[in-house]
Amino acid sequence: MSDVSTLPWAKADAGNAIALYARPGLDLRVKIDQAVQRLREASIAHGQGLVQSSSLGVEDMVVTDLIARHKLPIDIATLDTGKLHVETLGLLPIIEARYGRTVQVFQPRPEQVIAFVRREGDDAMFRSIELRKACCGLRKLEPLARMLQGRSAWITGLRREQSGARAEVAFDEDDGKGLRKISPIADWSWAEVWSYVEQHAVPYNPLHDQFMPSIGCAPCTRAIAVGEDFRAGRWWWEESNKECGLHAKTP
Ligand code: SF4
Repeated sequence: MSDVSTLPWAKADAGNAIALYARPGLDLRVKIDQAVQRLREASIAHGQGLVQSSSLGVEDMVVTDLIARHKLPIDIATLDTGKLHVETLGLLPIIEARYGRTVQVFQPRPEQVIAFVRREGDDAMFRSIELRKACCGLRKLEPLARMLQGRSAWITGLRREQSGARAEVAFDEDDGKGLRKISPIADWSWAEVWSYVEQHAVPYNPLHDQFMPSIGCAPCTRAIAVGEDFRAGRWWWEESNKECGLHAKTP
């Protein structure tokens, strides 16, 4: 792992996300050990069939750090929807430099994107839930399916605390599509995630310093206000359950 002394995000700094959120719980050390154990067991059980599907959000950065720090032979992959913030994409070379791991990037099929944008426009997602889901379908679900082709399990950074829809997330569950889905930090709190980031100098998306706890595509993510739900900044114009379908159990 590279020297972290020059990383600007390694320390709590006036108003940054570490200063705002990091509060180590008494059992963080235990939770870290348990998360590593879950990753180790998944790696043994699935071998090359296992991949971390990273959103490049802070939870996934923690999981990547756990994988790299403990030298686990687990592939790391992400989706580049073509609509991500430059700050999000900027994490890819940082991960590679910091951990010496190549991140596999899966993009939507260009012909599908061109046809959709030509037909519906670049702002289709704001016009109806159906169009928003169609956009998520071709920019996220289709590339995810390719990422998971030939795999038997995938790792996520889902946490139960993130939303009501995620309150039942298991450490190891059937994803509804024939694969196992491993969520090694499902029981971590937001404060514990940021404590880990601080203690291990984990690189993170600077947009987290701007009140964006959950970061997706640029047009569909905004900062949240005090008291708003964790995922209130995602598809904020919809009354939906704030999910894009990546974690839906139905195919
Ligand atoms: Fe399209 Fe928004 Fe879904 Fe990204 S989050 S795929 S821009 S609808």
